Amino acid sequence: MGGVAVYPGSFDPITNGHMDIIERGLGVFDKIIVTVGINPNKKTLFSVEERISMIREAIGKNPRVEVDSFSGLLINYVEKSGVHCLLRGLRAMSDFEYEFQMALMNRRLNRNIETVFLMTGARWFFCNSGIVKEAAALGGSVEGMVPGVVLKKLKQKFPGMVKKSGI
Ligand code: ADP
Repeated sequence: MGGVAVYPGSFDPITNGHMDIIERGLGVFDKIIVTVGINPNKKTLFSVEERISMIREAIGKNPRVEVDSFSGLLINYVEKSGVHCLLRGLRAMSDFEYEFQMALMNRRLNRNIETVFLMTGARWFFCNSGIVKEAAALGGSVEGMVPGVVLKKLKQKFPGMVKKSGI
């Protein structure tokens, strides 16, 4: 397919499910811009700067991946970037309705921008930032669900987190 895609999300924090979408997305697109949505009304565990720096560290040096942030309407950001494709991941039915609405709304706002969905990797079916934060806050291990840098940051926030996981 080639070209550039914007992969937007909260990434609070980035998980291995997100990483899987980025890695597989690179098999489809030449370049991916991972962009962190800034929403002052949404309470997040990590600041935008922390989320960006964790994504950068997790991805490492890769000229085909750019990390950025945006506020306001996503479509305005995508238009300004000159990109025509949005990349999103799809897990179970729960994602579908929300993603379907978002994709249709975005298409209504700009018909030239298409949303491309990649189905979750089977291993990451249940993996999302929310469940990772909940488990970590309650002392459960999320080893194997998030990149090393995120695990380190979570351990700093929640020192009670246990070491070994069942995965
Ligand atoms: P949002 O705040 O918009 O829900 P997220 O940061 O949770 O954004 O996720 C960004 C995108 O990554 C969404 O399209 C979401 O469906 C996808 N995603 C998150 N976790 C996974 C996963 N485990 N497998 C596949 N896609 C995922």
